[in-house]
Amino acid sequence: MATAQDIKDKIDLLDFLRGYVELRPAGKNFKALCPFHKEKTPSFMVSPDRQSWHCFGACNEGGDVIRFIERIEGVGFLEALSILGMRQDQIQGPRNDAIRRKAETVSAWANEQFDQAQKILREIGQRARIAGKLRWREEVERCVGEWKILSVLSDDLQDPMQVMSLWPECESVEAILANAMPEPLPDFPPITPEYRSYLQAVARGDV
Ligand SMILES: [Zn+2]
Repeated sequence: MATAQDIKDKIDLLDFLRGYVELRPAGKNFKALCPFHKEKTPSFMVSPDRQSWHCFGACNEGGDVIRFIERIEGVGFLEALSILGMRQDQIQGPRNDAIRRKAETVSAWANEQFDQAQKILREIGQRARIAGKLRWREEVERCVGEWKILSVLSDDLQDPMQVMSLWPECESVEAILANAMPEPLPDFPPITPEYRSYLQAVARGDV
């Protein structure tokens, strides 16, 4: 399977950056005006040897080509990979289609599982509130325990690096979510003003 490293190996950082900044030679490195903050003297340095960039100015941040795309396009890791895949297509034909399709599949899967996790979290939250009102401590504790586990999973499903490591375990993730949905509670009707007056009447002894 193609990895992020494989994709990076095929991309020349300099070629890629030229689409965004004007690179000027500086010794064996290159410099440019940082695209992430306003400046008049270049503090954005690029090392062709290390295939990395760093802003020594206001950003004081750097990384590889994927990190650059994440920042400049405001996207996550998988989308950044997919952008690289598309650029590769433009340059070298469709050999990265498979990578892009895979990234899209993984991303769609993660979004779907995230939605499911959020649905269950809402259900568990509702359950915990009702169990709390009923002073059913065991059930509250059980809900809180499940809520914690699912929150972590839900966060992971939003983190592209975690999604990459969850993907090989996708069946386990699906199984966890399939078993986590609690039995639905009955729909509690809202208390109507009529019913409230009825209760007050009962309390007064009128009924
Ligand atoms: Zn900067």
